[in-house]
Amino acid sequence: MKNYRIYLTEEEIPTHYYNLRADMKNKPAPLLNPGTYQPMTKDELTPVFCEELVDQELDNETRFFEIPQEVRDYYRIYRPSPLVRAYNLEKKLGTPAKIYFKFEGNNTSGSHKLNSAIAQAYYAKKQGLKGVTTETGAGQWGTAMSMACSYFDLECDVYMVKVSYEQKPFRREVMKTYGANVTASPSDTTQVGRQLLEKYPGTTGSLGCAISEAVEAAVTREGYRYVLGSVLNQVLLHQSVIGLESQKVFEKIGVKPDVIIGCTGGGSNLGGLIAPFMGEKLRGEADYHFIGVEPTSCPSFTRGVFAYDFCDTGHVCPLAKMYTIGSGYIPAPNHAGGLRFHGMSPILSQLYDDGLMDVVSYKQTEVFEAAELFANAEGILPAPESSHAIRAAVDEALKCKESGEEKVILFGLSGTGYFDLVAYEQYNNGTMQDYVPTDDELQAAIATIPEVEI
Ligand SMILES: *Cc1c(COP(=O)(O)O)cnc(C)c1O
Repeated sequence: MKNYRIYLTEEEIPTHYYNLRADMKNKPAPLLNPGTYQPMTKDELTPVFCEELVDQELDNETRFFEIPQEVRDYYRIYRPSPLVRAYNLEKKLGTPAKIYFKFEGNNTSGSHKLNSAIAQAYYAKKQGLKGVTTETGAGQWGTAMSMACSYFDLECDVYMVKVSYEQKPFRREVMKTYGANVTASPSDTTQVGRQLLEKYPGTTGSLGCAISEAVEAAVTREGYRYVLGSVLNQVLLHQSVIGLESQKVFEKIGVKPDVIIGCTGGGSNLGGLIAPFMGEKLRGEADYHFIGVEPTSCPSFTRGVFAYDFCDTGHVCPLAKMYTIGSGYIPAPNHAGGLRFHGMSPILSQLYDDGLMDVVSYKQTEVFEAAELFANAEGILPAPESSHAIRAAVDEALKCKESGEEKVILFGLSGTGYFDLVAYEQYNNGTMQDYVPTDDELQAAIATIPEVEI
């Protein structure tokens, strides 16, 4: 009998997060203070982030961190997530490849982001905080954080990019349903917001600006800290549950993936999925081909530079050494909102620079073609972000069709696309536009990267 969905039991939910940095020879570079360009110390980070999360952020040595029981209790609501054999997609493609995907969209937030949100809310509560502040673009992270804060009875202040606040009311209302305070950014509730509104009246905001507002709202009030849904080392640590569960399933069924694929916005779902497999590779125990996938409209890896850069437009956050196309880069309105960040996780950036993984980029219409093929084969309506991974998995499977190789392909299906139907509408009626920045445009943005010597 064929098994389509391979589940672990609740008892098999990982008990520890895996810290890939412990096995990296070249560690990711430390975050730098935006004023002095010196490495951020624990004392500098704790006014912004929760204390235990700062410890996790700075720890390049501890291999495993225990997942607190309260966090695992919440994971039981929606984990273990299924690993699915895509028999129907294989058949449609006529490929000898075996395609598996790890499905993280099976919760109300609709993506993997809840894995880190629940951990971050737990540590905030444990520290006795009143609440947390954060930003959200299209709303996935804000929704996940709202759910997590509601569970632990914390206040959640979300700065939502104004254009999304106005044009994407559905996720906004989900957040409010879970009790979050949602503010359209830029707003008059922060100094940085007021400055921006004065300078650019009528602006519809940006993620970088919302980050600056959320950080200010955290550090200027007693009992609040800022939380971030991607890019940071701590977030990749939490997301390792995706890879650990996948590794356990493959061990159970006696299969070893050859190719592991995921989309890359800030790098957290791919970083989490590949973590234990990359660990095996770094320790010389096994080999895998890792592929990150990004949109051509925001090509941090494929056309960016590896340099220290600001994570936000307001330049109030620490600098990270990462693949970046410049914090001044304003991506074209691509529908994969979660992939519109100019930078990338320092961990993935280091791995990519060391030649341990590949990255490819696709145009929107190529991505939606794969999304619809997948939806029709497997029934799940994928998120535009996740569909980048689908596109690459389909192309790998088609290569196998040519060569006759029976590779095992695993990709991360990071979320569902129910809130992205305007994008599907544009694809269906043929009005979706592809966007590839010119070299000049990219050079102008890359020129905004500061010169940092350490
Ligand atoms: C946010 C998001 C992403 C991109 O973020 P990463 O940190 O790169 O994982 C990808 N897929 C979905 C569904 C998202 O919500």
